[in-house]
Amino acid sequence: MSLKIAVIKESAANEKRVAASPDTVKKYISMGCSVSIQSGAGSSASFTDEMYKSAGATIAKTADDTVKNADILLYVQKPASTITKSLKKGALVIGLFAPYQDEKAIAEWAKTGTTIFSMDMVPRISRAQAMDVLSSQANLAGYKAVLDASEHFNRAFPMMMTAAGTVPPARVLIMGAGVAGLQAIATAKRLGAIVSATDVRPAAKEQVQSLGGTFVAVEDEEFKAAETSGGYAKEMSAEYKKKQQALIEETIQKQDIVITTALIPGREAPKLVTEKMVKNMKEGAVIVDLAVEQGGNCELSKAGEVVCKHGVNIVGNLNIPSRLAASSAALYSKNLQNLLGLVIKDGKLDIDWEDDIIKGITLAKDGKIVHLQFTKASAEKTTAKTESAAKKKPEAKKPAAKKSSTKKAAPKKKPALKKAAPKKSAAKKTTSKKSSTKKTTTKKKTAAKKADK
Ligand code: NAD
Repeated sequence: MSLKIAVIKESAANEKRVAASPDTVKKYISMGCSVSIQSGAGSSASFTDEMYKSAGATIAKTADDTVKNADILLYVQKPASTITKSLKKGALVIGLFAPYQDEKAIAEWAKTGTTIFSMDMVPRISRAQAMDVLSSQANLAGYKAVLDASEHFNRAFPMMMTAAGTVPPARVLIMGAGVAGLQAIATAKRLGAIVSATDVRPAAKEQVQSLGGTFVAVEDEEFKAAETSGGYAKEMSAEYKKKQQALIEETIQKQDIVITTALIPGREAPKLVTEKMVKNMKEGAVIVDLAVEQGGNCELSKAGEVVCKHGVNIVGNLNIPSRLAASSAALYSKNLQNLLGLVIKDGKLDIDWEDDIIKGITLAKDGKIVHLQFTKASAEKTTAKTESAAKKKPEAKKPAAKKSSTKKAAPKKKPALKKAAPKKSAAKKTTSKKSSTKKTTTKKKTAAKKADK
């Protein structure tokens, strides 16, 4: 029997992407696999059932029918773990598991006996670039963030010299010059804006400048060592943050648009734009907070909403890649296809468990959590719990005290990430947008003061 790959319709709110495109289905068939797609799975990304059928897939009605006897399940955002009941024993489930946001789910899924590959853990090495979903999706998010900014900005981006007068170019500041930030710089430049960018990684300076942007950062000794071996940013010291804040306070006053993309893997996003900074921004300025799902880079942004504060429109749209679903699903599917190319040989699963990419993405296998980052975290938690229980033995009847010491010892606890979950209804969003417009138009605030800046 050929290897069966299943692709289900995404169930998460705001998720329009799908884990296979008709092109990748064709490739899987040519690799000797069979593909089952849930009816309508690709419709929000402009991939019809007919297109999948022509590519060689079979169309199933329900998610359970789709995954029945499948060897591999492909998804974008993890579905309920109950879906695994219909899969083959030890099947491979591959998608954006978001392990840092939901550590409990790793144990729950591990129990199902499936092998979990988390695409958001693909190591940042050259060989894995074609499988790097974080990059393919962040690139599109950076582009879309600039378009979102333009939608809420009531001036033009490029300088225009007309008989009726000159329109000045927009000033755009990008905070965080990683994959999303660099694409935002390129997009804003293409639209004719004057662009500057900030980051804590020294390598970002040259990249920003090569795109025609001005680099703004406190370039001290700490900055020179602020990159991890994996290419990510380190959390900066309180002293550095203070210096950086002072520089940003000065820079941000002159900006029309600020796009924030700053992230630190596994942690809450750094707060870079304070309420005081927003107060000092120009009337009608726009902030797009791409880090809003990780707690936000701006103190005032609200997940899933567009709010107007102190005359500044703050955009907190969720799941930006999904808002360009046809492009993002095509790239995501191709990333998965490249990964499957690594583990399928002659139509059969043939996984090299010692491969760095495989080691990097395997969260659970044979009923156990196997990823070092999470086995280590749970081992530390267990040790802390045992130590704390031993210390507290005479007071064993005081569960509150016991709980709090365990909590203290637990590494990298991130309850704050949960804070960022979308809370407000669409109705609220509309109201808030309306009130923003009203506020922006009726506000006869210190225009002169702001123009001076
Ligand atoms: P990310 O999404 O984790 O973070 C976005 C940016 O925010 C990063 O550039 C980070 O340095 C920056 N940042 C963090 N804290 C900040 C702060 N306090 N102030 C300002 N900026 C802050 O990062 P990413 O976009 O996924 O990419 C991280 C790095 O990995 C980049 O250098 C990228 O080029 C590199 N990368 C390498 C590969 C590869 O080699 N295969 C693939 C993708 C990305």
